[in-house]
Amino acid sequence: MYAFTLERPASVADAVQLAGAGGKPLAGGQTLLASMKLRLSAPEQLVDLSGIAELTGIKKDAGSLTIGAMSRHLDVANSPEVKAAYPALADLASRIGDRQVRAMGTIGGSVANNDPAACYPSAVLGSAATVITNKREIAADDFFQGLFTTALEDGELITAIRFPIPKRAVYEKLRQKASHFPLVGVFVAQYDSGVRVAVTGAGNGVFRHSGLEDALTKSFTPEAAAAVKIESGELNSDLHASAAYRANLISVLTQRAVKSALG
Ligand SMILES: Cc1cc2nc3c(=O)[nH]c(=O)nc-3n(C[C@H](O)[C@H](O)[C@H](O)COP(=O)(O)OP(=O)(O)OC[C@H]3O[C@@H](n4cnc5c(N)ncnc54)[C@H](O)[C@@H]3O)c2cc1C
Repeated sequence: MYAFTLERPASVADAVQLAGAGGKPLAGGQTLLASMKLRLSAPEQLVDLSGIAELTGIKKDAGSLTIGAMSRHLDVANSPEVKAAYPALADLASRIGDRQVRAMGTIGGSVANNDPAACYPSAVLGSAATVITNKREIAADDFFQGLFTTALEDGELITAIRFPIPKRAVYEKLRQKASHFPLVGVFVAQYDSGVRVAVTGAGNGVFRHSGLEDALTKSFTPEAAAAVKIESGELNSDLHASAAYRANLISVLTQRAVKSALG
């Protein structure tokens, strides 16, 4: 490690002021502190968000669930409101990393970081959720912009995420044994307006699969998902899995998700 200063603001307004002056927001540190130890990131000032009450809390309104940015994965996994209103989200949170990661990692940090293999971005995109910041509301379709890149501007803070509650939804992932990150994860959500399918772990960032969405909107069955050919051309190939293997996983996990959603 190297020298840096740490600020602990008590309000979003103070945090925004510090971040606007170059301070780096610190949520649970599950990515940021590791990057600093590896010298991949070297902020001169950290702005610890953990003392800001406005960034916590989970609220259920008619048809939606709003989750504060500093909600830890365990908060979401254990929340009675989330379990009742949007069980797929509680289930997703309960399977992130290990217990230590779930105790510290936050939904805001995960979504701001936009790791191409993170779980939450698939739920945000798959639910057509809204990312709420200190200055605006950003639709999920506009928020994720590829590898570790989002629509957030310098100094802009995520304050909460609002999820429309689907008729049914399921998250399926094949997790890497070492990191617990998904090798591929698929989030399937059915709304009155149609089905959304978001894929993580397979490309340069989370993405929707229009072929699967069209097929499942017409017929919400595992057979309809199985009939969709998944192209491997733009998928990742690395030491963990080939692009063809990931393409097959997208199909298999989507079929499993639909089967599970149908009960
Ligand atoms: C061993 C291990 C296994 C993991 N497994 C999984 C997994 O299976 N699935 C999965 O999805 N994730 C996994 N993760 C990631 C983890 O769940 C965290 O969500 C992720 O690391 C972000 O951490 P954090 O919330 O502590 O944010 P930090 O590390 O504190 O911050 C991450 C980035 O987001 C920025 N930031 C944080 N909060 C905000 C905000 N409110 N507004 C704007 N910018 C913000 C920070 O400045 C920083 O750039 C794993 C991590 C580890 C270490």
